[in-house]
Amino acid sequence: MYSGDIIKFIEEWAPPGVAWDRDNVGLQAGSKKEKIKNIFLCLELTKPALNEAVKKNCNFILTHHPFIFNPIKNLNTDNDTKAQIIAELLKKKITLFSAHTNLDFTKDGVSFQLAKKLGLKDIEFLVNQESNQYKVVVFVPEKATERLAENIFKAGGGIIGDYGKCSFMISGTGTFEGSENTNPAVGKKLNFEKAEEIRLEILTDKWKLSKVIDAIKKNHPYEEPAFDVYPLKNKNVNYGFGTIGYLATPLSVIKFLELVSKKLNVSSINYNRGKHRTITKVAVCGGSGSDLIKAAEQSGADAFVTADVKYHSFQDAEGKIMVVDAGHYETEILVLDEVKNRLEKYLKQNNSKAKVYKFGGSTNPVRKFINN
Ligand SMILES: [Zn+2]
Repeated sequence: MYSGDIIKFIEEWAPPGVAWDRDNVGLQAGSKKEKIKNIFLCLELTKPALNEAVKKNCNFILTHHPFIFNPIKNLNTDNDTKAQIIAELLKKKITLFSAHTNLDFTKDGVSFQLAKKLGLKDIEFLVNQESNQYKVVVFVPEKATERLAENIFKAGGGIIGDYGKCSFMISGTGTFEGSENTNPAVGKKLNFEKAEEIRLEILTDKWKLSKVIDAIKKNHPYEEPAFDVYPLKNKNVNYGFGTIGYLATPLSVIKFLELVSKKLNVSSINYNRGKHRTITKVAVCGGSGSDLIKAAEQSGADAFVTADVKYHSFQDAEGKIMVVDAGHYETEILVLDEVKNRLEKYLKQNNSKAKVYKFGGSTNPVRKFINN
């Protein structure tokens, strides 16, 4: 089991293609070719977290927040903590990898874990991503259709929600005339040919398109396979921003705040006056989710739990939706349990003895002063 295998496994769940354009997800430092000893998880990498990782003999660290985000101008190990951490990572051959907004925008990612922790039911994305899929249409002789479709599915095409291998086929007649330089699989060159073909339609996410086209080129019997790629405006049911669901039992505003405080282990919460005195429908977004306040309100949520909410955002939402700022760290840290479970399962399936550790301390830079 190599560091590259772990990265591949995580990125199948949280593809870099769904991340923000300006994000910096993926490998941060080190190599994809290191044999895995143990794995360490933390929300962001600090010196205490790195020390604990080293103590636990971990040579793969996964963080949610990318370690390298803004351009680094120099690596001065005399007084720059970041440079010192990078130097130690490289010296100790530790691979550092980040899954940030790709982990936010995927199913069972950050906002799903937050919704689950609050006990919400019927959880779905608050806003689905859209316009990041293509419809691939390929014309293929019937006999070769099944094999071609199978290979397109293997390349990642044909996934709609929890359904895989989705396709549509219709038969028709294709025509072509090969030049002197051809060697057609059907008919003869320099002859106008008509061939019974299947129009095979399969949907793919944009970041899998090149693999899907490779699969077509490798598995199509024709010298020049005919295929079309159409960009889609569709909502992508598999990826989105924030989540929404229902409390099993409606709660008063105060009881709801008590629930948030208890479940997220947060001692003080900022919130505003919403529309309703009873909270039933709840939207959430782990981390800085103020951009979604409007969407949460429009979806009929009574409350929206997120973090980093500005004064004027509270003000704008007053009387419309109860906005709850429960802390950036507190609303995101939960996802590490899901990452841990998935990695442990994957390691076990692959007969690896590597262990997965979560940082025992907290990397939260925000302290709270409570005046009792
Ligand atoms: Zn964050």
